[in-house]
Amino acid sequence: MTDQLTVPVGARASAGDTVSHPTPAPAGPRRPSPPPYVVGPGLGERLGRRVMAGKDAGTQVSVTPLTGGVLATVPSSTTDDVRAAYALARAAQPAWAQTPVGERAAILLRLHDLILDHQNELLDLIQLESGKARRHAFDEVLDVAGVCRHYARKANDYLARRRHLGAIPVLSQSVELRHPKGVVGIVAPWNYPLSMSLTDALPALVAGNAVVLRPDEKAVLTALRSIELLDEAGLPPDVLQVVLGDGPHIGAAVLEQADYVMFTGSTPTGRKVATDAAARLVGASLELGGKNAMYVADDANLKKAAECAERAVFSSAGQLCISVERLVLHEAIADEFLTHFLGRVESMKLGPELAWGNDMGSLISPEQLARVQAHVEDARSKGATVLAGGKALPDLGPYFYAPTVLDGVTDQMMCRDGETFGPVVSVYRVSSDQEAVALANDTAYGLNAAVWTRNIPRGRRVAAQIRCGTVNVNEGYAAAWASNGSPMGGMGQSGIGRRHGAEGILKYTESQNVTVQHVTGFGIPKGVPEKAWATAMSGSMRLMKKVGLS
Ligand code: NAD
Repeated sequence: MTDQLTVPVGARASAGDTVSHPTPAPAGPRRPSPPPYVVGPGLGERLGRRVMAGKDAGTQVSVTPLTGGVLATVPSSTTDDVRAAYALARAAQPAWAQTPVGERAAILLRLHDLILDHQNELLDLIQLESGKARRHAFDEVLDVAGVCRHYARKANDYLARRRHLGAIPVLSQSVELRHPKGVVGIVAPWNYPLSMSLTDALPALVAGNAVVLRPDEKAVLTALRSIELLDEAGLPPDVLQVVLGDGPHIGAAVLEQADYVMFTGSTPTGRKVATDAAARLVGASLELGGKNAMYVADDANLKKAAECAERAVFSSAGQLCISVERLVLHEAIADEFLTHFLGRVESMKLGPELAWGNDMGSLISPEQLARVQAHVEDARSKGATVLAGGKALPDLGPYFYAPTVLDGVTDQMMCRDGETFGPVVSVYRVSSDQEAVALANDTAYGLNAAVWTRNIPRGRRVAAQIRCGTVNVNEGYAAAWASNGSPMGGMGQSGIGRRHGAEGILKYTESQNVTVQHVTGFGIPKGVPEKAWATAMSGSMRLMKKVGLS
């Protein structure tokens, strides 16, 4: 199998890239399209060396959804390899945990720069592996840089020992310590190959854990190249182990040996992962699906809301857990908003080029295409109106699907409550904020939501009533997602636990309460009658309440 691929291109590679573009694509038909784009022969072999793969390991091929062509061949780990990865990670972890937090954090600052410096190469790999448009790939570069910076700057504070008021003020001196969990097992999904492979591992590492990571099979090249950069940034050997393989076997093997489980994927798989973790009494963070709503109120800036809706619905062709699949429109502005929105949707530029300028790329796989088609055909057959799109675009690539807007969706249709995870949005009309909140909350999920209004206090009020882990006011998803100091994650069926902020690192630690007792203990002092002691203790409780002690 050769590590070679031909797809249309228009971007340039920079020095040091592992991929090359001979010349920009000439104008003309978009597919089939010259010139050749080459993932250098040997890329798979080089990156594959970072994978834990023993003598019994097999191989897996990495394929691009843009053409269906083979990108590279990489090793495929066995369950024995997963065990070996844990053994090395466990051996390396104590020394890593002894490394000062500042030194651990400095690696993230170096990675921050390396990711930005190598962005062209990473953007190519992300596009090739996921099929998404370059601007959506760039979201991942920004995300990783933002997470690096945040935890590099804040880890020391998050992990610092904290003094608390002791049981007996002054005499009980209580300190909370944070210890790493040990080895964190991470199963990452395919939809954000760079972000999802790195951003959950980084806080785990800075907290002093070792990590065993299983990136998705559709994200291996991006994941392995970014891990090469993490190594270059100074991560010591063995602290981060990588295994490759499918979810049900290798992914499950990673999670079942973990001291803490970090899983991102669908709700059904998440439920199984949580059950297994609960049986072992280890903690788990689950980032799962969503059926996210954007409410456009009657006082919203409709042009800006329409621009935002385009991004929020169609980023990564809707294969984004926090993307908007329900547009909830105040009836007073619904028609005017739709004029703006549909105008934008109809003029979106789609294409497979590894270049800036496209508004949307491809779906990632035949399974994703089939899922999107099933949702749209089901809705159409049950009476929904297709306001835009509603068809595959095979002329652009095997899994391209048109940006699609549905109206008249009812609860008999699959796309009413089920996550489509594709470029499909349904339109609903409401007559009040209250109705909008009820509709937004009428889902088992609770991941992300958006509210558009010129009245910020109104936006905050509505946001606080929506049962979602993140709510954006006057943005669709990016504002809350990229605010790395605030927690992000799902309520309801959208998950357990949070990434980002304090919760995003403290979940990878065990808290410990060390309290030193001075002078007098808790026993009844010798010679003091029990009743007198109880009266004195009650008095001290009342005094503490009076002076405001907690
Ligand atoms: P999926 O649950 O089928 O697979 C997700 C990942 O889990 C894959 O990498 C898969 O290989 C792995 N996996 C499968 N079975 C496993 C098992 N038994 N043990 C361990 N790992 C296993 O989901 P999918 O359809 O591939 O991904 C899309 C879903 O992921 C959507 O529901 C989307 O919303 C969700 N997602 C959520 C977030 C988030 O941050 N909340 C981010 C990305 C994707």
